[in-house]
Amino acid sequence: MSRRKQVYEGKAKVLFEGPEPGTLVQYFKDDATAFNNQKKGTITGKGVLNNRISEFLMMKIAEIGIPTHFVRRLNMREQLVRQVEIIPIEVVVRNVVAGSLAKRFGIAEGTALPRSIVEYYYKKDELGDPMVSEEHITAFGWATTQDLDDIMQMSLRINDFLSGLFLGIGIKLVDFKLEFGRLYQNDEMRLVLADEISPDNCRLWDTKTHEKMDKDRFRQDLGRVEEAYQEVARRLGILPEGGPGDLKGPQTVQ
Ligand code: UDP
Repeated sequence: MSRRKQVYEGKAKVLFEGPEPGTLVQYFKDDATAFNNQKKGTITGKGVLNNRISEFLMMKIAEIGIPTHFVRRLNMREQLVRQVEIIPIEVVVRNVVAGSLAKRFGIAEGTALPRSIVEYYYKKDELGDPMVSEEHITAFGWATTQDLDDIMQMSLRINDFLSGLFLGIGIKLVDFKLEFGRLYQNDEMRLVLADEISPDNCRLWDTKTHEKMDKDRFRQDLGRVEEAYQEVARRLGILPEGGPGDLKGPQTVQ
């Protein structure tokens, strides 16, 4: 791991300087956290699975014309991404009531929403990621009204697209979190999808059994967490023969 400079370490990923200017290497760890870092653990093989799942979903999203930071997967735990300036907003899209929405409004988890809801949270661990409105975002200068229009449009398209994709493999996309970044290229700025899309930041329920196939298994101590992530990869058709492999640690494949 000493072969290049670490730029940032987050809860589930590490960012290293990439091989060319304007690129980063995104390394996926097995570490899991929940409830704003109060619960910590390890999900063996999670990094390998999330790297692969996120690669697959980012490439599919790019195919429908939504720009992303993803360039290519490098090996089991790493992917090359474009360096972007992350907008400090978590965009949550919801189709079914769950998690904090259920708690905040006292609505039963599993209640279908009459229309998708988009929420914004300010990315600030020390403050517990408070929910914010468009007014806060523009007043504090985190993004402009035009940026938010683009972000909302892209988020809803991603929701429609991923909802269909998951439905096709017997999975309900309950909610998920997205992050966007500013990509500067030839004196132009473009907003692109960044971070990752994986069972760490989506709620995925089996359509028939309603079984949870995401990080809620870790948050709620439901057991069989690795198996659930593997099952998502298997249904997406991207689980390598013989399992996810490299469950032990970092490895570089050139
Ligand atoms: N989420 C996330 N990171 C966060 C907060 C939420 O990836 O810091 C995801 C979470 O996995 C879920 C969706 O966003 O798919 C909505 O989460 P919610 O607001 O219900 O919060 P939670 O119950 O996760 O605290």
